[in-house]
Amino acid sequence: MILKGQEHCPACGGKLVEKELPGEGLIPWCPACGQYRFPAYSVAVSMITVCETTGRVLLIKQYGRDAYILVAGYVNRGESVEHAVAREIREETGMTVTRARFNRTSFFEPSNTLMCNFTAYIRDESELKTNEEIDACAWFTPEEAREKIKPGSLAERFLAAWAEERQAAPGEGPQA
Ligand SMILES: [Zn+2]
Repeated sequence: MILKGQEHCPACGGKLVEKELPGEGLIPWCPACGQYRFPAYSVAVSMITVCETTGRVLLIKQYGRDAYILVAGYVNRGESVEHAVAREIREETGMTVTRARFNRTSFFEPSNTLMCNFTAYIRDESELKTNEEIDACAWFTPEEAREKIKPGSLAERFLAAWAEERQAAPGEGPQA
């Protein structure tokens, strides 16, 4: 599939065509360069931010919208995904991540982004000092968080899957 906005070769500007790559299917191909040009996409992290002491989950409101979502942000080129988890939480909430646990990924077609969901544990809620990107935030029990999170969102699906796993294996992590 040739994506809108990615019709041309990033190296020579020539028009891409589709060509069969054995085992991969139809991939954009530059006839001038003689190279496959795999579609570009973004990578982002989304965090279920959990306080190790209380077991509560942080939800935020952003972009002037009245809906609770998870802390999230794009992974920079050259940055590891795990570094982005700690950096985004530090930048947006001021808090230090003590450890992060990978949960799952989901491709988000509307923004051409691979979303990588983690549980990010923080030790000290008192460090909470949100930056100007965040309109509001609050701590909830996992059950409350599932009720408050934006309905129909990818964040809701990540949170639901996490909460169900947590119930199935309550020994995982301190109170989490
Ligand atoms: Zn080319």
